[in-house]
Amino acid sequence: MSLRLRINPLDARFWVTTPYGVRGDWAAGYHTGDDYSTHGLTGVPVHSTWPGWVWAVGNPWGVDYGLQVVIVGPLGRVRMGYCHLSRTHVLPGQWVRRGQHLADSGDSGRSTGPHLHYEERRPPFGYGDCRQPRRNDKGSQHGREGT
Ligand SMILES: [Zn+2]
Repeated sequence: MSLRLRINPLDARFWVTTPYGVRGDWAAGYHTGDDYSTHGLTGVPVHSTWPGWVWAVGNPWGVDYGLQVVIVGPLGRVRMGYCHLSRTHVLPGQWVRRGQHLADSGDSGRSTGPHLHYEERRPPFGYGDCRQPRRNDKGSQHGREGT
């Protein structure tokens, strides 16, 4: 597997049920990240898709996103947010490697049920400064390195 590939934030039991870009009842008019259903579960381990530093833990993107961990990539050009969490396992300023256990999934904030919202933002990193999340959907590799 190429080192350029991101891994998925959850393991292969879970997949994207509401993808980036679909139209709907969000402030931006479209979904700004990928939602992974956790099949009614909370406490599912959430793994870093990419290395970087922990930029913030808490509600840096607002209370609608619930409890969040936001990672900034090594070059500072992307921020990756893991949202609606139940617990976090990292601290601001900490370096994290790809695949590191960052947090446990939950149902916090504006959420209609347990799931993970994963979002990638580009400068200037405000609401709507998002891009289609890059993930590894390639066949049997799906999420398998997220351990
Ligand atoms: Zn979402």
